[in-house]
Amino acid sequence: MNARTDPHLAALSSTDSLLVAAGRDRRPGSPLNTPIFPASNFVLGAGRAYARDDGTPTWEALEEIVGLLEGGKAVAFASGMAGAAAVFDRLPAGSRIVIPDDCYQGVAGLAESGRRKGFWNVRRLPADDTLGWIEAAADSDLLWLESPSNPLLIVADLRAICAAPRKPSALVAVDNTFATSLNQRPLDLGADVSFQSATKFIGGHSDLLAGVVAVRRDDLLADVRESRHRNGATPGALESFLAVRGARTMALRLERAQANAMILAERLCAHPGVARTRYPGLPSHPTHAIARTQLRGYGTIVSFDVRGDAAAADAVCSRVRLIQHATSLGAVESTIERRAGIPGQEHLPPSLLRLSVGIENVDDLWADLGAVLP
Ligand SMILES: *Cc1c(COP(=O)(O)O)cnc(C)c1O
Repeated sequence: MNARTDPHLAALSSTDSLLVAAGRDRRPGSPLNTPIFPASNFVLGAGRAYARDDGTPTWEALEEIVGLLEGGKAVAFASGMAGAAAVFDRLPAGSRIVIPDDCYQGVAGLAESGRRKGFWNVRRLPADDTLGWIEAAADSDLLWLESPSNPLLIVADLRAICAAPRKPSALVAVDNTFATSLNQRPLDLGADVSFQSATKFIGGHSDLLAGVVAVRRDDLLADVRESRHRNGATPGALESFLAVRGARTMALRLERAQANAMILAERLCAHPGVARTRYPGLPSHPTHAIARTQLRGYGTIVSFDVRGDAAAADAVCSRVRLIQHATSLGAVESTIERRAGIPGQEHLPPSLLRLSVGIENVDDLWADLGAVLP
């Protein structure tokens, strides 16, 4: 749909350059940055009539960037959940869905609410039970994977699961939010759908909600667009603009935050106040071997179990000064949260903290965290 996509962009081998160059109108006299178009309707006669049906140039800038990054076509949504709902929306009644044990709670809730209403059947499997997923693929309609997973950071063998025989109508969707398109391209690994919350790394500044669904197949693209149109789950003009602004620096932010995360993971591992550190980049991580072959980088999220009980972990959250005690992830600022304290997440280890590492100075981060660990 992006008529102005420059064919040279698709040939750029480096995603860093794509993030900077894509999503621009290169006609002489155009602003370098696609402006915020606060438009619902357009003068008739030139194709674009109504934003919910036909999009706006601001959303399309975001869609162009993410589409090129993911190696497909992207559709932007009002939030990550709106995008996930559009994928579930295409399932016929009675569908069989498989989601991971460790799954973003919003997506698990979406699957569960449909199951309760009798729309579909839901099974849950451990993300690292590759054989289980391969067997389930044979008679499922949607395999929804999340890798690395939230918050245990389990890496699923996406290539093997995507290659499993499945019904022609069945879909494999991957939640790519934790990996980002820079570390993992699910469509290249054989997935039909690559989904991500743009609220996280693409936005990168904790100031917007948006989601993006990327696909290669035209029929899926049409379905996902139709769902957005019908349900009205369209992205905001300001949010799309901010997401594009965020994308410009995403490669730099990720590089810095990821390097910080590795250093912090190693220091946490060696700290007596930490019972267990979960980071796919650590050789001790149960799915490190697959992470090494599948991911270009290990990401910016480090989960760790504080020695002691929930109160000991809460104390860490309330005492950090540089790190923000806040939910969500993928932003310039580091955030920390005790996940089992969240309603619906009580099954998680009680003292597990999820740290989203930002771009601050790593020694400052460690000084902050190290000083308040038990
Ligand atoms: C945040 C998140 C979502 C949902 O995205 P929203 O933008 O909050 O709607 C889905 N999956 C994962 C892994 C997330 O972190």
